[in-house]
Amino acid sequence: TEPEQRAVARTYELDRRHVFHSWSAQAELDPMVVTRAEGSYIWDGEGNRLLDFSSQLVNTNIGHQHPYVVEAIAHQARTLATVAPQHANDQRSEAARLICERTPGDLNRVFFTNGGADANEHAVRMARLTTGRPKVLTRYRSYHGGTQTAINLTGDPRRWPNDNADSGVVHFFGPYLYRSHFAAQSEAEECGRALAHLEQVIELEGPQTVAAVLLEAIPGTAGIMLPPPGYLAGVRELCDRYGILLIVDEVMTGFGRTGAWFVCGDEGVVPDLLTFAKGVNSGYVPLGGVAIGDRIADHFAHRPYPGGLTYSGHPLACAAAVAAITVMERDGIIGNARRVGTEVIGPELARLAERHPGVGEVRGRGVFWAVELVSDRRTRQPVAPTGGSSPVMAEAVRTAKQLGLLPFANSNRIHLVPPCTLTEAEAREGLAVLDQVLHRVDALVDG
Ligand code: PLP
Repeated sequence: TEPEQRAVARTYELDRRHVFHSWSAQAELDPMVVTRAEGSYIWDGEGNRLLDFSSQLVNTNIGHQHPYVVEAIAHQARTLATVAPQHANDQRSEAARLICERTPGDLNRVFFTNGGADANEHAVRMARLTTGRPKVLTRYRSYHGGTQTAINLTGDPRRWPNDNADSGVVHFFGPYLYRSHFAAQSEAEECGRALAHLEQVIELEGPQTVAAVLLEAIPGTAGIMLPPPGYLAGVRELCDRYGILLIVDEVMTGFGRTGAWFVCGDEGVVPDLLTFAKGVNSGYVPLGGVAIGDRIADHFAHRPYPGGLTYSGHPLACAAAVAAITVMERDGIIGNARRVGTEVIGPELARLAERHPGVGEVRGRGVFWAVELVSDRRTRQPVAPTGGSSPVMAEAVRTAKQLGLLPFANSNRIHLVPPCTLTEAEAREGLAVLDQVLHRVDALVDG
């Protein structure tokens, strides 16, 4: 209708005049207006329906506007809309219990934050204070957040303009067989060499100076590189050997994305600290946190922890977490993510990779998949540089949106990261659009 069109035009115009956006040259932006969303779909300002294979920023694990979670937030708003962090509150207590029951091992306490970056900030602070050591080892090809310590931890080009020389962060290479840094020919070789490399970095940095190794359970934005079997357990073993703490970032992987509550638990690895955000309440209200193992909790038993936030464990965010976790459990949503990945997305992507020369590799599990686009399969030349874009990538995303699919794009990759609630029919709908997109990519890289 005409009033709706005027409202959308005004939204856009005010955005361009007053809103300062993340990671962007402000004058070069053309944001899509989103007016509503439901389940796996969102609607843009022109009334087009898009299948949301981005889950926004890979956070709407239970889909959009889940009525159970929306109602829990509304109910909590009417009951107690905010409370200071020093008081106890039923939703915070219950959210902490539900999270600790799902994290592996002795991760028995939760420090709540507003999101993933500050969760990593606090995890690193806890590790440094507990060990009395300054350095943190993290991977190249990683993303840990946009605040100062978190962006220093990050191993992608967004770090460069933000780096401070005294960050105490040292980067190492993780396993990535398709573009192996170790000239490996098999997953087992990649795993062994990546662990030997990490051990060398530890030895040469001086183990007694290293507080923690921090890594994503599966690097997300950097490319969804599944760790080869034994890698995470191998890192745990190295940390134990050198008295180093292990921090696993499950901000993107946690709460169902891979078809499990957590990758760590799935792989039988217990970190000293585990950070989460996003899927904990599907981002309906900002929430993140650090799950804390007993050794670190004990360190702060009779010694104050020097950190806090006004909104630590905010009742609206925690009510949303309680509802989201409850509904994921009740409705078997994590099993659905695993099944749709194993039975539909994985096999169909393998078929698309065979048919389309522009596809270098597909990889993933659950509802967490990456498609690497290359201009030459033999040389594996990416169609866009790390952290950058290119005409081919821009055209791929434009084509997808035109055909009703919203993907998540980074560098030379299209990520298929739909909600864990995705139905088989929705999966097939999205993959059919991807097929069209890949025809377009093939034509462009060919010609
Ligand atoms: N860690 C990982 C693995 C992430 O993917 C992200 C966000 O994408 C973050 C941390 C940062 O989380 P936030 O944006 O909530 O600060």
